[in-house]
Amino acid sequence: MTKTQMLSPQFCPCCEKDSWQVHYEKEPVLITLGEVVVTISADYWECLDCGGTYDNPRDDYDPLAIAYAEYERITGKKWESPYMKKIRSK
Ligand SMILES: [Zn+2]
Repeated sequence: MTKTQMLSPQFCPCCEKDSWQVHYEKEPVLITLGEVVVTISADYWECLDCGGTYDNPRDDYDPLAIAYAEYERITGKKWESPYMKKIRSK
């Protein structure tokens, strides 16, 4: 994991102003998908002003897609979102 302090303030989408932030790379983050907890290597920014975090807006980075793939690897099943299940149960 790499933690990098910014050298200058940058725009934070949480509080919508320029602020000091810390960049987290390859940070293990737990995501709960139903009964299964998967660990992904997260890449995100933390705002030191408002305390908010947001995903690195890289085109090739989708934390949920990584979590779903990990879920499939562990359980051998595709993840179905509660939203999808809710529609089917009607
Ligand atoms: Zn902020």
